[in-house]
Amino acid sequence: MTRSTAVLRDPAALLAAGLIPPERLGELQQVAARYAVSLTPHMAALIDPSDPHDPIARQFLPDAAELWSREGETPDPIGDDSHSPVEGIVHRYPDRVLLKLVHVCPVYCRFCFRREMVGPGRRQSLSSTALEVALDYIRAHPEIWEVILTGGDPLILSPRRLREVVRALGAIEHVQIIRVHTRVPVAAPDRISAALVRALKLRGKSTYVVLHANHPRELTENARAACARLVDAGIPMLSQSVLLRGVNDDAETLGALMRVFVENRIKPYYLHHGDLAPGTAHLRTGIDEGQALMRALQGRLSGLCQPTYVLDIPGGHGKSPIGPSYISRRSSRAEFEVEDFNGQRHAYPPLPSS
Ligand code: SF4
Repeated sequence: MTRSTAVLRDPAALLAAGLIPPERLGELQQVAARYAVSLTPHMAALIDPSDPHDPIARQFLPDAAELWSREGETPDPIGDDSHSPVEGIVHRYPDRVLLKLVHVCPVYCRFCFRREMVGPGRRQSLSSTALEVALDYIRAHPEIWEVILTGGDPLILSPRRLREVVRALGAIEHVQIIRVHTRVPVAAPDRISAALVRALKLRGKSTYVVLHANHPRELTENARAACARLVDAGIPMLSQSVLLRGVNDDAETLGALMRVFVENRIKPYYLHHGDLAPGTAHLRTGIDEGQALMRALQGRLSGLCQPTYVLDIPGGHGKSPIGPSYISRRSSRAEFEVEDFNGQRHAYPPLPSS
């Protein structure tokens, strides 16, 4: 086996890098014909090929289980298309839009909720004309306070291209916040260059970067340095993670992930329940398991380390928090009962009647 210095884009390259056994090549070529494969050298180096349960491999190496779709799985599980007034824009909530600039990523996650839309040979990146139409849409809607650059991964673009888009958004008076969703700081940390950081900054407006990472091992020394370059430049960072079977579905790993975010000045933001994307059932957990994990985090970790556990309701109805509840009404009384972090329940009185 040789450690690759090139991006691995198909099962033959994964085989040459010693990441998959020869007997799986045929079935994994079938998976790759349907869903994009890409692994950066940085991410590939994190995989321990001798561990059949390696949590990094599980996120990025194709699996024959992806060939089987289950009931309820759908190509557009969070309903982007039904909220897309013009190409590249998803306007689901009143005060914010998604702006999808590209449909490519440095790595392709096997659980991706947009797996039918991202990857080479899928939809093209936004053309200059389509981008102008998308910007016109944002200009014409004064209720849009925040623009979320997503994709694909927007930080795969060159600093020059990013600067053009960020400046165009910054020139729109009612847009105050630009939020960037990315996996680049962990997948290809060297791309977070001084020029890229400068391209994201905007005088008088705020840029937030939301890092997608799912296992503490993704926060390598280089990844931490990349995040530090963003935060040191005054760009706040948040995290989003997907709850994944065999990757982070135990309290110890999930807790370690949240702590490593906070230690690197990245505030845990969302823990997503896995979306109903085709061929991803083997990576999803039950909602009851997710709620039990959230209780475990609440019981053992600092408040800084608590993400919001959310589900994107299939059909495009938006995101809802689905974490456990700690408060209920006492049966047949007006008072409440609140649960503490040890699971003990306590009465809380209602407002006195005047
Ligand atoms: S980085 Fe995001 S858009 Fe790209 S494959 Fe992963 S989940 Fe999908």
